[in-house]
Amino acid sequence: MTNTLNTEHFWMPFTANRQFKSRPRMLVSASGMHYTTDDGRRILDGTAGLWCVNAGHCHPKITEAIRRQAAELDYAPTFQMGHPKAFEAASALVSIAPEGLDRVFFCNDGSEAVDSALKIALAYHQVRGNGSRTRLIGRERAYHGVGFGGIAVGGMAGNRKHFGPTLAGADHLRHTLDIARNAFSRGQPEHGAEIADELEQRLLALHDPSTVAAVIVEPIQGSTGVIIPPKGYLQRLRTLCDQYSILLIFDEVITGFGRLGAPFGSQYFGITPDMIICAKGLTNAAVPMGAVLVRREIHDAFMSAAPENSIEFYHGYTYSGHPLAAAAAIAAIDVYKSKGMFERAASMAPYWEEAVHNLRGLPYVKDIRNLGMVCGIELDPVPGKPGARAFDVFLRCFWEKNVLIRTTGDIIALSPPLIIERTQIDQLLEAIADVLKSQK
Ligand code: PLP
Repeated sequence: MTNTLNTEHFWMPFTANRQFKSRPRMLVSASGMHYTTDDGRRILDGTAGLWCVNAGHCHPKITEAIRRQAAELDYAPTFQMGHPKAFEAASALVSIAPEGLDRVFFCNDGSEAVDSALKIALAYHQVRGNGSRTRLIGRERAYHGVGFGGIAVGGMAGNRKHFGPTLAGADHLRHTLDIARNAFSRGQPEHGAEIADELEQRLLALHDPSTVAAVIVEPIQGSTGVIIPPKGYLQRLRTLCDQYSILLIFDEVITGFGRLGAPFGSQYFGITPDMIICAKGLTNAAVPMGAVLVRREIHDAFMSAAPENSIEFYHGYTYSGHPLAAAAAIAAIDVYKSKGMFERAASMAPYWEEAVHNLRGLPYVKDIRNLGMVCGIELDPVPGKPGARAFDVFLRCFWEKNVLIRTTGDIIALSPPLIIERTQIDQLLEAIADVLKSQK
């Protein structure tokens, strides 16, 4: 089928375009745990698309909700107007959120949600008369999407290097990956809580706490290779942010919607940030949508700072709370809750852990780390060719084994739909094991 498809016009995102177009990997349909390719192969999805199809593909309840909504109300503005589904979607999201985070700002994806959260943080301090708090602190190896705010606090050199100084006020903490001390850790690593103390050093020695608006972290750094927070690390960040009146933002675009066996990483780790950024699983990826869950007092500060009939926050998107996205979010959250998907993920996690750690000792396996239904398998690179080994494993898994995995650098990142069965976990990991054993 794709022999006749013209592939030259679509400039593909985060893709080796020429390599892809030399032999396209084309997915034409999906159901449950599987994609189907244009040559009719069923591909086991080891990555939930891009960490987003948590309830499995084309879930009938979600599909039906979108279909109905498209016929009933295609679009309505949410600037000075409203439609019921946007409000229902916000309430549905709040129903699974940590207590206190009960105000929702909608946008279209994770990147916009990141930028929205950063803007809320900056504006919040300003409306309270603390206009000197303009600095944002992220981390090395962080991925916060591709907006200018997100790359400013993000910590991936490749995503930043072409775009100038971005936001001058952004600083970065060290990441927490420490293979020397924590290799092959199961669950949260033992060592590294003290890395959080770097925040205090920066505040006292360099910036002064009164200049810092927010610290933003992913509870698990996903896109740069599954970096799991050491025990005590996130707690320490929370304590320091409280101590210095700095907002703590969790970017839960990957950890949201059950990936760790709880609705959000926040509940899993028992730490409540001031804002949670989410997207992806919010609609089970069926319609693009992002959101920022905001602590009520932050929202209320905007309400009380502006006169009654004026706009309190000059920010928003044409598609904030889009009817199709809202309908998909309501349905997806209902599916997660009614099918007990978060609990299912929690109960499958120990089997997942055993299965992924069985790869230890195979050729080139340098580290394996896991939490909930996510894992990273770090490989020794081909000398002088960073990323080449993992990319080859990815290609061979797809073409020879009919499984979809994702790689970043020389790290394989796995995050299957939460509906995965034990036999499918076995199939996925046996495929990777076979490929590694025959790796040149
Ligand atoms: N934040 C995190 C932690 C992510 O993992 C991602 C995407 O993978 C984003 C933000 C950006 O989301 P989007 O690609 O929907 O803009």
